[in-house]
Amino acid sequence: MPVSERALIERIRARAGRAKSSVLARGIGDDCAVLRPPRGHELLVTTDFCLENVHFRRAWHSARVVGHRCLVRGLSDIAAMGGEPLAVFLSLALPADIPQRWVNDFFDGLLALAERWKTPLAGGDVAQSPRGVMADIMVLGSAPKGQSVLRSTARPGDLIYVTGKLGLSVAALNQFRAGKKPNARSALRHFFPQPRIDVGQSLRQRRIASSMIDLSDGLSTDLSHICEESRVGAVLYADSIPRPQTDGLELALNGGEDYELLFTASPKARVPAEICETTITAIGEIVSRRGMWLADSSGKRAILKARGWEHFRAKAK
Ligand SMILES: [Mg+2]
Repeated sequence: MPVSERALIERIRARAGRAKSSVLARGIGDDCAVLRPPRGHELLVTTDFCLENVHFRRAWHSARVVGHRCLVRGLSDIAAMGGEPLAVFLSLALPADIPQRWVNDFFDGLLALAERWKTPLAGGDVAQSPRGVMADIMVLGSAPKGQSVLRSTARPGDLIYVTGKLGLSVAALNQFRAGKKPNARSALRHFFPQPRIDVGQSLRQRRIASSMIDLSDGLSTDLSHICEESRVGAVLYADSIPRPQTDGLELALNGGEDYELLFTASPKARVPAEICETTITAIGEIVSRRGMWLADSSGKRAILKARGWEHFRAKAK
């Protein structure tokens, strides 16, 4: 490692210590962090790996982008519960030959996003990796007791909604694969996706969402999780799925890493067209028959399979 483990931890501590948080009684520097979750709240916990050549490539993703994307997945999971993020923990293994500059930039990306959501880096570990960068990130959040929005509570007759537009992130990845530079719009969404924390909280507070999940693996796959957990089926209307181009249906259905929210709501619920400046689109409905279908403009239904993106598996060498 470029600087000693101890020196690296001191640097991280100095940077992370600048964040102010009413939740964090004790951050980096003791055996454990000490947290004071808001009164009447339950804790939400999510962990995610971010592995070199599985989730990112150093040739395609700058260190700053890797740091940002590493955290966005955890924050997006908290958003999908309607929760608020409280603290971040990071275990980071670095190869011996990685430049210190890369490490600094990685923390720039990670801490900028953490600060945006007032979520302090409260602890973790560093180690030397035998091969490649490995980051394991944990985000702790909270929601009022019994009010987290689950995957398992969609009901037949509920309408299905998504936030934003789908398929932009994977479009950028496909450009990289083809050896091209992605266009600015999809590159931004791929490099710096934003977790929909404020939208998720609003959907919970207004009791709009009957179930919710974030779109990390792709619409078809993430919808299948709601269907399985809720023991229901779903019909999507192909024409309604929001995407940058009309021919982007495949990417919107099966591309991943959009980090938008997919939720269901009772047909009686008043669902606004926009929440926190994010567009909300109705894209289908929950049915009692198990399975997933895609309906075209004439109403003709075809079976929809969960074919969400599995990172670099398709072309990994
Ligand atoms: Mg998730």
